[in-house]
Amino acid sequence: MPHEPKTVAGVEIVPLCDAVGPMGGRIRRPLPELFPGAALDPDAEWILHFHCYLLRAGSRTVLVDTGIGGAGSPAASWAPVPGRLGEELAAAGCSPAEIDVVVLTHLHSDHASGSVVAGEPAFPNARFVIQQAELDSVAGAMRDRVVVPLQDRIQAVSGHAELLPGIRLLHTPGHTPGHQCVEVGEVVLAGDVVLHPVQLTDPAITYRYDDDPEQAVRSRAGILGRAAVIAPSHFADPFVGVGRRE
Ligand SMILES: [Zn+2]
Ligand SMILES: [Zn+2]
Repeated sequence: MPHEPKTVAGVEIVPLCDAVGPMGGRIRRPLPELFPGAALDPDAEWILHFHCYLLRAGSRTVLVDTGIGGAGSPAASWAPVPGRLGEELAAAGCSPAEIDVVVLTHLHSDHASGSVVAGEPAFPNARFVIQQAELDSVAGAMRDRVVVPLQDRIQAVSGHAELLPGIRLLHTPGHTPGHQCVEVGEVVLAGDVVLHPVQLTDPAITYRYDDDPEQAVRSRAGILGRAAVIAPSHFADPFVGVGRRE
C-alpha cells in the first residue's frame, strides 16, 4: 500500500491507490483549460492519482468508490486501466466478500467502474449506496454496464444521510447532480468536489468537466468550511489538512 491509513473517531480510513497516471484520450487538455482562471503551467503534465478508501468501523467494512476498473472498463478511453483496487484491498487484508457497503461518490467512469466485473457485482455481499439524483442522471455505458447489473443491490439516498454511526453522507452537487461526500469525524472523503490543489487556494476556480460549475463552487466552499482534513480522489496525497475548523 503506497499510502498510510489514518484513524479518526474510531474509524480506520485506508487509502487505496487504484492507479496513477495522466488523463488521456479526447478529454485531455492543458491545465489552464481544465481550470479556467488558475495560474497553472500549460506545459505541465497533470498526473492524477485515483484513490478509493476503505473504512473499518467496528464490525462494518465500507468501500468508498471502486475506481477505474479493468482493461475493458468504461474508463479505458482516458484513464490508466487496469486499476489495482483488488491488489490494494488484498494488501489491506480485505477480500471483496468482506465489503458490507459500497458508497459511490458519483457515477463517473473512474469512480464506479470497478463495481462490476464480468457483468456481476464485484463485491458480492455489499449494498451500493448512491444518491437518487445521480441515478436519475446517469446515461450510456455507466448506466448499462454498471447501474443495470447492480440494480438489485442499490440503496438510493436523497440528500444528507447517516450511513453508519459516525459516518455521514453529504450531498454535494455540482460536479455531478448526485455527487456525495463521506464525512468521518473531521475528515471528509471529498470525491471530485476538489480536483486540483489550486482549488484549495481559491475554491471559486471551476473545473471544465463540472456539470454545474457554480453549484460545484458552493459545494466546494461548504466542504472546505466544515472539514479539518479532506481526502480527495485525485491528489497525490490521500489526506490534506485544510484546517478550516477551529
Ligand atoms: Zn495514490
Ligand atoms: Zn468525476
